Amino acid sequence: MQVPDIICCVDCGQSAHRMTEAPEAGWEAGDIVAYRCRGCNDRWDIVIDDPAEHHPRWDGLDGFDFRQFLQERGSQQKD
Ligand SMILES: [Zn+2]
Repeated sequence: MQVPDIICCVDCGQSAHRMTEAPEAGWEAGDIVAYRCRGCNDRWDIVIDDPAEHHPRWDGLDGFDFRQFLQERGSQQKD
């Protein structure tokens, strides 16, 4: 399994460099990889997904954020 050396920081858009060394046996799903952002110095802990367990949903709702949906619904009801 491949893990990127550099990811893009969600907060500031700068590059975040991997701090965690690759395990001798290689990366496995569920491993946590830490990154440190060069821009805002934030630490990012990324849990490795198992691509084999990631099936797109048949109804096309993959990635649907249910919490955000509830928040939006709640704010609408207040109006
Ligand atoms: Zn950053």
